[in-house]
Amino acid sequence: MNIILLGAPGAGKGTQATKISEKYRLPHISTGDIFRDNIKRQTPVGLLAKSYTDNGKLVPDEVTCEIVKGRLEADDCKNGYLLDGFPRNLFQAETLESFSKADAVLNIDVDLSLLMARLCGRRVCKDCGESYHVDFLGGKTVCERCGGELYQRKDDNEETVGNRLKVYSEQTAPLIAYYSERNVLLNIDGVGAIDEVFARIVAALK
Ligand code: ADP
Ligand code: ADP
Ligand code: ZN
Repeated sequence: MNIILLGAPGAGKGTQATKISEKYRLPHISTGDIFRDNIKRQTPVGLLAKSYTDNGKLVPDEVTCEIVKGRLEADDCKNGYLLDGFPRNLFQAETLESFSKADAVLNIDVDLSLLMARLCGRRVCKDCGESYHVDFLGGKTVCERCGGELYQRKDDNEETVGNRLKVYSEQTAPLIAYYSERNVLLNIDGVGAIDEVFARIVAALK
């Protein structure tokens, strides 16, 4: 099964991706994680991507699409994949469609007014990428899954989040209609406990 996770920054894509990937045994492919890994290792892709991710802008399509195409050709994608954070505009969606078709597009729907607080309070594991929120960590500073150290992403600040939400509304939100027209869109209410949202996803995929 080929699944795409759609949703605004902070909607809970990464959080749900961990659970979906475990239950359905699909590789979790996050373009954001791929860019952050490249930035950390200072690869050519990382050096190019940094100024875009730091400002909440989209990394150029040619680079992003090339990375995803290559990644989907890997052996572990033979029985499907879970794409998180790609596609993010119509060009990326059309490019993806030229080499792979989605079976289900999960649109995690959260009112934009809730996202600033979710993102500015987000803490991420530096080893496995799992997302947490300061409000629920009770002062813990390490990852529950792997013991890795938690950090705050550089782009999780008010100014950059503002840019990311604008980019989402202008460029990514139109993909809801795009996939709805293709009859693969599944709308998921993303407000509620993490396990409740996951249960809605499992029900929608049946
Ligand atoms: P995305 O990958 O869509 O940007 P994340 O999964 O990283 O979003 O979640 C963003 C923030 O919101 C994190 O701090 C996460 O812990 C929190 N979060 C995720 N799901 C929920 C939920 N159902 N209710 C409240 N907060 C959530
Ligand atoms: P979020 O969790 O807020 O949705 P991501 O981790 O998915 O954020 O993305 C972080 C940054 O990485 C984006 O702001 C953008 O600069 C870059 N990025 C991620 N995915 C894409 C993509 N499909 N196209 C272009 N840029 C991307
Ligand atoms: Zn971890």
